[in-house]
Amino acid sequence: MNKIMLFAAVALLVACSAEREDMPAAPLDILLVGGMLYSGADEPPLAADVGIMDDRIVAIGELEGRSAALTLDVSGLAVLPGFVDIHSHAVRDELNDGIFRWPDAENLIRQGVTTVVGGPDGSSPLPVTDTFAALAADPAAVNFATFVGHGSIRSLVVGEDDRPASDVELEQMREQVRFAMESGAFGLSSGLIYAPGRFAETDEVIELARVAGEFGGIYISHMREEGLAVLDSVAETIRIGEEGGLPTQITHHKIVGAPMWGQSTETLRLVDEAVARGVDVSIDQYPYTASSTSLTILFPGWSLDGGRAALLARLDDSEQRQRLKSDIVYNIEMDRGGDDPANVVIANCPHDNTLNGLNLSDILRLQERGVSHQNAAELLMELVYAGNCSAVFHAIDEDDVRRIMQHDRTMIASDGGIEGPSERVPHPRNYGTFARVLGHYARDEGVLPQYTAIHKMSMKPADRINMHDRGRVAIGAVADIAVIDLNTVIDRSTFEAPHRYAHGVQHVFVNGQPVLLDGEMTGARPGRVLLSGDYR
Ligand SMILES: [Zn+2]
Repeated sequence: MNKIMLFAAVALLVACSAEREDMPAAPLDILLVGGMLYSGADEPPLAADVGIMDDRIVAIGELEGRSAALTLDVSGLAVLPGFVDIHSHAVRDELNDGIFRWPDAENLIRQGVTTVVGGPDGSSPLPVTDTFAALAADPAAVNFATFVGHGSIRSLVVGEDDRPASDVELEQMREQVRFAMESGAFGLSSGLIYAPGRFAETDEVIELARVAGEFGGIYISHMREEGLAVLDSVAETIRIGEEGGLPTQITHHKIVGAPMWGQSTETLRLVDEAVARGVDVSIDQYPYTASSTSLTILFPGWSLDGGRAALLARLDDSEQRQRLKSDIVYNIEMDRGGDDPANVVIANCPHDNTLNGLNLSDILRLQERGVSHQNAAELLMELVYAGNCSAVFHAIDEDDVRRIMQHDRTMIASDGGIEGPSERVPHPRNYGTFARVLGHYARDEGVLPQYTAIHKMSMKPADRINMHDRGRVAIGAVADIAVIDLNTVIDRSTFEAPHRYAHGVQHVFVNGQPVLLDGEMTGARPGRVLLSGDYR
């Protein structure tokens, strides 16, 4: 019997025993009384109480009067599945950062997030088993699952050079994907805009994606291009799923740069056409008109060939530096620079924290240099040379955000990670993504029903990676639950002041344990490492 059938059988047993009236019902651990229940499916809520025993949801219905160790009156509140963030930077390269620096994950818990899926954008620590061991030894408040990164594997096997992999290297990369999938990864991520992922031809990615697919995994991609060539990139992402024989996902789908604004009608049409011919394509998105990543996103691909040392050598060469500068000017104008240096805001410069929160125009003025695309390009080269920085890039149109959000293949994911008060000025998506969709886009703007928004944050991403016991409030499912006031929930994190927790989340349970109770963090860290092998 496979795991899903076993799960269904257990659920049935539990359901039957709960309905037997001749037997006194066993006391519950936790009872939530009087709330509106959102199952996680794309459907309106029902009034129902929810009973939790150990780490499972064991009773749903009219349960008032059932004895429980902890009974909470949740009248006027929504009881819904804890959110599954399918694009999370919770684990960073630095082991003292992210989930290891802030294991309480308060920025996520206060949005109702209970599971993060790491290893996005082609980047994951290798081997993935090291991360699993570290989190098993020192658990966090949220559950952790991961993809394995194509870029990380390519870096390990091929290095940082712009060249095709040899047959031997391709086989070594296949073996790396196989090992990660056997170890518990949920699929292969790629970052084909970043070095060294960008140095891979489509065929290489198809070959590696096929291996992930053999284990029931998905392919999830930060595409090669999100600006002028976004349509080609969507086609490539679809092709990799189609020829690789596995589900494929466009992650943090957006249209970057004014020349392409409005083109989400075309990208979504490509997705619809692929779905119609049987390709399993999906999308995730964060609800903002700015992106965030390294400053080198504005650098041309040729300048990144060979890694950082090679880039620095190019910056030292006056002829190449000149060529680089004109390519960066082009990207400021047409792509992620949004045609204005003020649209690029420093999030974190480890070599100079005083720049955090300033945009390129601010910095040029402070340095008494004229504000121009040319000078901004010079400044970018200087900052990258000095150690590189991350930044926020305002170059996305609101209409595209809404159109993508409404599409039935789209789920919500943060592309953020775990943050706490610090010297950084990170993108507000870390603190606000889920609350912003529920409060701003669904309730205040009517872009989609709140129950649909909840679906896109819970059951939809959970089902995408076959995690059929989470992302739902159902008998037999794991008790990852958020209790939220949907009338007041809202993000409070802004681009200027990002370190602000979301408002409106009242209680959060992870694996049946209270992590947030009456708006207070309990300090519990019941998060588990989730392995794909448990869902095959
Ligand atoms: Zn990305």
